[in-house]
Amino acid sequence: MKISNIETYRIQVPLIKPFKTALRIVNTADSVYVKIQCDNGLVGWGEATATAVITGDTLQSIETAIHDFFKPSLIGKDILCFEEIFHDLSAIMTRNSSGRAAIDMAIYDCLAQNSKLPLYQYLGGRSSQLETDFTVSVDIPHIMGEEALEYVKSGFTTLKVKVGLGNINEDIARVKEIRKSVGNEITIRLDANQGWTAKEAIQAIRRMEDMGLQIELVEQPVKADDLEGLRQVTNQVNTFIMADESVFTPRQALEVIRTRSADMINIKLMKTGGIFYAQYINQLAEAAGMECMMGSMIETHLGLTAAAHFAASKRNITRYDFDAPLMLSRSLIEGGIQYKGSKFTLPEIEGLGIRNIQLK
Ligand code: MG
Repeated sequence: MKISNIETYRIQVPLIKPFKTALRIVNTADSVYVKIQCDNGLVGWGEATATAVITGDTLQSIETAIHDFFKPSLIGKDILCFEEIFHDLSAIMTRNSSGRAAIDMAIYDCLAQNSKLPLYQYLGGRSSQLETDFTVSVDIPHIMGEEALEYVKSGFTTLKVKVGLGNINEDIARVKEIRKSVGNEITIRLDANQGWTAKEAIQAIRRMEDMGLQIELVEQPVKADDLEGLRQVTNQVNTFIMADESVFTPRQALEVIRTRSADMINIKLMKTGGIFYAQYINQLAEAAGMECMMGSMIETHLGLTAAAHFAASKRNITRYDFDAPLMLSRSLIEGGIQYKGSKFTLPEIEGLGIRNIQLK
């Protein structure tokens, strides 16, 4: 099953309302869709999203990586020998994880179709029905409280709250307002997106613990490359700490595990360069007794379909942050992941289960 052609398409989908974190404000989902054709007629799809502030990837850099670096090495390669292909891809060009992720998804789409199985089953999975949290953008406290309540009324039982903007008193006020607004039955997790120093994080989290705000976990309190700061926070608070931007590669995961710098890892295909290396990270974490969450960037239904197939296949992935498509004004794909309130399901058809894509 040799690769005969690779094409890319730029897509843009407006968000229903702006998405705000400590790192950025997003108004549109901007991605490159990748189509891989095989000589036996199978076609696979993948998505690379441009999140320059996290991965360093832009639409232009993704296209250049795919057309000038990956495509020349992939044409004519037999995807049944995927072990070699994925190792080669990461050797051809360092970083550029989003472009590699799109190629990886499209190859897995073909592999699962060739085995006549939905991708989650091809990967050994058990369930195609899961539940996502919903993200509350960072804003002034009373707006966040109102939004949080709106999401709870539409059926979400877990909220991921963006903090890390301004001072920690403002962050604590945000969380307090949300807890007051949604009550004690709702699970609240925080994501500071690198917005705190280690000292601020320790102070903020301890104060929230003392106030009884019941925070399930805090994602990436400190800068991505401040592993020592991350370790200090993890050691000095009771609340679980999750590494996100600090872990792109298996090597980085190993370092976080070895130094016990976090209690959990958030895996995203745009960081790992796709499913192949996401599996390494999940297995390293599982061996160390560390659970993982699966998340995404502001990706569309295509990227989330691949992420959901992977997440649904792994026992050690126990949390799902898959709300990005719910923030979009429309979907460009037929088939793939289907949402109903906070629940989502994967199609019981071969591969990713994408039936049609609207590219214009
Ligand atoms: Mg995060």
